[in-house]
Amino acid sequence: MPFEIAKSMVGEAALKQGLKYIRNNPEKNLVNLAKWGGRLAREPMHKQYARQWAEMFADDNNNWRNLAVKALNQLSPGVVERSGVNMFLNAGILSPARRKEGEEKYGVHVPWAILIDPTGRCNLRCKGCWAAEYDRSQDMDYETLDRVMTEAEDIGVNFFVISGGEPTVRMDDLISLARKHNESMFHVFSNGTLITRERAQQFAELGNMTFAISLEGFEEETDARRGKGVFQKVMQAMDNLKEAGVPFGFSATYTRENTEILGSDEWIDLMIDKGCLLGWLFTYVPVGGEADLDYMATPEQRLFMLRQVRKWRSEKPIFVADFWNDGVFTQGCIAGGRNYFHINAMGDVEPCAFVHYANMNIKETSLVEALKSPLFLEYQKHQPFNSNFMRPCPIIDNPEWLEKMVDETKAYSTQKNGVSAAQLCRPLHGYAKTWGEIADNVKAEDDKSTAESQTDVQ
Ligand code: SF4
Repeated sequence: MPFEIAKSMVGEAALKQGLKYIRNNPEKNLVNLAKWGGRLAREPMHKQYARQWAEMFADDNNNWRNLAVKALNQLSPGVVERSGVNMFLNAGILSPARRKEGEEKYGVHVPWAILIDPTGRCNLRCKGCWAAEYDRSQDMDYETLDRVMTEAEDIGVNFFVISGGEPTVRMDDLISLARKHNESMFHVFSNGTLITRERAQQFAELGNMTFAISLEGFEEETDARRGKGVFQKVMQAMDNLKEAGVPFGFSATYTRENTEILGSDEWIDLMIDKGCLLGWLFTYVPVGGEADLDYMATPEQRLFMLRQVRKWRSEKPIFVADFWNDGVFTQGCIAGGRNYFHINAMGDVEPCAFVHYANMNIKETSLVEALKSPLFLEYQKHQPFNSNFMRPCPIIDNPEWLEKMVDETKAYSTQKNGVSAAQLCRPLHGYAKTWGEIADNVKAEDDKSTAESQTDVQ
């Protein structure tokens, strides 16, 4: 038996025991585990981390502690075990080494995650959907999906984000892929309307599927954009997932019309009450040729959301990611294979879900060759696109970059009504400038308060 497999089996058995122990009494055993970690740690720095974790888990006012306890109580035992092993052991410990090996062998940068669309079809049609400009009749064949995932796992990618179209219109294929690739995590963006009690039970049995369900706000806003009755179906889907013990959260796009609602405490409290453990916030990006710039959240609304998310992080037991404003945590843009990339339902290999340009199609090439896409290499050469990571994006924050990269690599438009990069990017310069000024002020405030807190420590 190869040493790596033997080692991972020992690690897996120990991790499963540890997860079982914590699940028995999360309130008490999270603290105990952190204390044991502190005793076993050799490095002073690791001892300090363990002490901080133990203090955090002992503080029942700490919202991260409360989120961890809530997750452990809410999730089914099978989900805790499978997801724990996949996230901590496979994606966290074994994959980085495999990625490094893959990088040395093939001379490419291997990302952490792949976003892949099994279908362009959807049972809803929402205003401003980033996928609405694709040819919506396409499905990716099962063999290609399976091949991409197998090739990805071989080079250390164990995290698949699934989008569309509505991926659950191919529910059986999705479940079959998650079963076959059970050492990887599947994070599915869905409109939730097809998640029944029975399906939720199947996801719980698999243990490696998590969901982000789309909403626009409360019932009025959600039904206005997505169709009558959709909000209630989503509430039911969340109940089904919670009852089955499957991890899930919300996904929401903030626009000029709903930013104040999605950024309200009432709304986030509803999501927490429904059982959401996480949430994705996206700002509306005009991807199409006739995209409505007036639908974009204003720079001031983006600032409001940034401040709300920061406040929630210290108050609310939910993990909320704000895809653009959180560039600080990822040192800017993550696309183009740096941390992730997107394969649409036609097979086009794109840098990001919001960048509909490509040089390659996965149906005609291997995954490793696709990672050598000229547009990806151009991305990686120029990242970060701005020294202020609150201005990470080459589409909305630095539109001159996307236009330049698409032109230089002669990437084709993957939309059914091809839009040139100039057509897409040029109208965004005004927005980028205004947001740039706001973001630079926020950065200056942040830098000042960091410097002051360091002086206090000294
Ligand atoms: S291209 Fe823009 S939206 Fe895509 S990952 Fe980079 S910053 Fe985010």
